Amino acid sequence: MPENVRPFSSGTEGLDWCEANCERCQLNGYKRGGEPCPMEQAVAEGFIRGTIPADLAVGYGATVTSPGFCRMPRQCARFVPPATCERIMWPGTRRRRSCGGVAVGEVEVHGLRHAVCARHWTEPSV
Ligand SMILES: [Zn+2]
Repeated sequence: MPENVRPFSSGTEGLDWCEANCERCQLNGYKRGGEPCPMEQAVAEGFIRGTIPADLAVGYGATVTSPGFCRMPRQCARFVPPATCERIMWPGTRRRRSCGGVAVGEVEVHGLRHAVCARHWTEPSV
């Protein structure tokens, strides 16, 4: 296994992944006011280096596809959904925001896990 692998084909793909994972995850260092999660750190450094450590990537659910490359899971294997409901209220308006209610569970939409409150639990779209 090569030491470092390229996880994304472009910076945009990397940003999309961060948005779907690190930015919503409870292990996010900024949100916790502590150290960043090892993958969060590696991906942040990856924007400069272009690669992340292969063993780390595999530990977080990636598959090494060919020497020097890996495919990242859509949702990080160690993703911890937020403690508050992520349902978007008033989408497409200037008042758009997350519900923010106490999360009681999660729903999976297009391969991504979303935290939901009791009120939004039964509604399928997020
Ligand atoms: Zn809600």
